[in-house]
Amino acid sequence: MSPRQHPSDETLLRHASRNLGAGLRLVVDVHLESCPRCREQIRLFEAAGGALLEDLPPAPVSSSSLEKIFARIDTESAAPRRLRAAPPARILDDRYALPAALANCDVGPWRFVHPKLRWARVRLPDAPRERVILLKIAPGHATPAHGHRGLELTQVLYGAFSSAHGAYGPGDVEEADDEVKDHEPRVTADGECLCLAAVEAPLRIHSLLGRLFQPLMGI
Ligand SMILES: [Zn+2]
Repeated sequence: MSPRQHPSDETLLRHASRNLGAGLRLVVDVHLESCPRCREQIRLFEAAGGALLEDLPPAPVSSSSLEKIFARIDTESAAPRRLRAAPPARILDDRYALPAALANCDVGPWRFVHPKLRWARVRLPDAPRERVILLKIAPGHATPAHGHRGLELTQVLYGAFSSAHGAYGPGDVEEADDEVKDHEPRVTADGECLCLAAVEAPLRIHSLLGRLFQPLMGI
C-alpha cells in the first residue's frame, strides 16, 4: 500500500536541491523507498533545477580548473567500475527488516525512557552528530509531549500512531516544525510502533522525565 502522508513539497524541494541536513535527508530517503509519489515529485524538482541551471549565463572557467576536470574524467573512465551488491536488509529484534537507506548507519543498542518507550541512536557514517533515532513504542503509549526548534520528520516503519495532525501508518511520514507546540504522537492500541525520527535542532521537551533523558538521546 502506498503511503498517504508525505513530506511537504518544501521539504522535498530542499532534498532535491541538497539543502536538507543529513539526518532529515536520511528520513526522506527512507520514505522514498516506499513512495512512488514522492520519488516522482523529487524527479520533477531535480529536472526543474537542471533547467534553471541551463538558463544561467555561462561563467568563465580557468584553464587550471579545466585541467583538473579532464584529469578526473580520465581517472574515472580508466578505473574499472565495480558493481556494488545491495547489502542484505538488517533485521532488528529478529523481526523488523530495516530500510536499505539505513544499511551503512550504526544503530546503537535499545535504551529505555520507561519500559513502554525505547530508543536507539542512529549514527550516519559521514555525519555522526546528526540527531536521528529509532523509537519503539508499546501499543497505546505516547512520546513525551514536546515542541520543536526547526523541522522534525518521523517516518513510520512498522505499526501506527496518531497525533493532532492525523493518523500515520507504515510508510507515512509526519512533518512538524516550530509552529507545533504540544506534539505527543500516540501509538494505536493494536500493536507496537517502530519509527525513525530526525530533528534539525534539540526538541523542547515538556516533561521532567523526558528532559532528563534528552541529553542521552541526543535529540
Ligand atoms: Zn511520499
